[in-house]
Amino acid sequence: MIALITGITGQDGYFLSQFLLEKGYDVYGIVRRNSNRRMGNLDLLSEKIKKNIHIYEGDVTDTNFINNTFEKLKPDEVYHLAAQSFVAYSFTNPTFTYDVNIGGTLNVVNAVRDYSNNTRLYFAGTSELYGKVTKSPQNEETPFYPASPYAISKLAGFWTVKVYREAYGLFMSNGILFNHESEVRGPEFVTRKISLGVARIYHGSKEPIELGNLNAVKDWGYAKDYVEGMWKILNYDKPDDFVLGTGESHTVREFVEEAFKVAGIKIHWEGSGLDEKGISDDGRILVKINKEFFRPLDTNPFIADYSKAKKLLNWYPKTSFRDLVKIMVKYDIEHYKKI
Ligand code: NAP
Repeated sequence: MIALITGITGQDGYFLSQFLLEKGYDVYGIVRRNSNRRMGNLDLLSEKIKKNIHIYEGDVTDTNFINNTFEKLKPDEVYHLAAQSFVAYSFTNPTFTYDVNIGGTLNVVNAVRDYSNNTRLYFAGTSELYGKVTKSPQNEETPFYPASPYAISKLAGFWTVKVYREAYGLFMSNGILFNHESEVRGPEFVTRKISLGVARIYHGSKEPIELGNLNAVKDWGYAKDYVEGMWKILNYDKPDDFVLGTGESHTVREFVEEAFKVAGIKIHWEGSGLDEKGISDDGRILVKINKEFFRPLDTNPFIADYSKAKKLLNWYPKTSFRDLVKIMVKYDIEHYKKI
């Protein structure tokens, strides 16, 4: 079986490539060129694993490249993960976000339709589609209300996949994945920013962690659990849309408290609003608020109802919130390097 992963150098690509290799797939990945020849999270894999991943160099926005890749490879499964995935960046760079997330997705679905119509396609949809949440918890029937250019771009991808599935009878499925994090999450995402900040402070830094809305409510799971869900979605009897999440909600504040607990540092809160601070028992400022990190539009509160995935795919999250925080903080403490 041949699997192609777009976005293989990102967080989910790191876990998915290993998961599929263990299942015996021939794994191919699309990697866009960069000036220092780095392979993102794939560089963290051992040489033994890495040499089993075949790389096509190119960009998902390049129609010819995508067409040629599908014509040549005709993969059994494609996991279309490539995206500009950072919500804040999508507000400052909406055109780029649309080009990659909408244009790139259109290239991939068109290539499947025109050159490889037996390929099963997974599209990386997101809980951000629910945006200004209208109902809790959120499932496959909950109305979408996107609240960022990123969410709009993913809504276009989601509907493109649905329309192609119905119009052309192709096996194309959407995952609607709630936030999933890990020790290889990009450093700009709030959870990793916290775990890296805690590690820095643990190793003696006096610089506080700067955060936005401490009361933002998220449904956070462990990325390794979610890539199994992606595979189960593509290996179900028919193409469909599935929510994957934990069904538990936690605030950014709780994440911070849990993360410092893992490092053995006690934190309490003083002040309110923009002046609120997280303080250690010996009076050090550990966390402060920076209004730059607030979203222009809030999206609270996310909480998944993943009962459809549980019933039809026997998928459920295996890692608790506490264990997730522990995995991330321990990893960052262990791998801390002073820059
Ligand atoms: P990520 O770490 O940001 O990875 C994104 C990947 O896309 C990277 O490999 C990146 O390559 C690649 N990429 C970006 N633009 C590209 C282009 N023009 N051509 C080719 N590759 C390109 O994201 P992730 O957390 O693994 O998430 C995977 C997917 O799931 C994304 O589509 C994301 O939007 C979606 N999603 C994520 C979550 C979550 O909580 N993690 C939740 C719901 C949905 P570089 O390494 O070169 O940048």
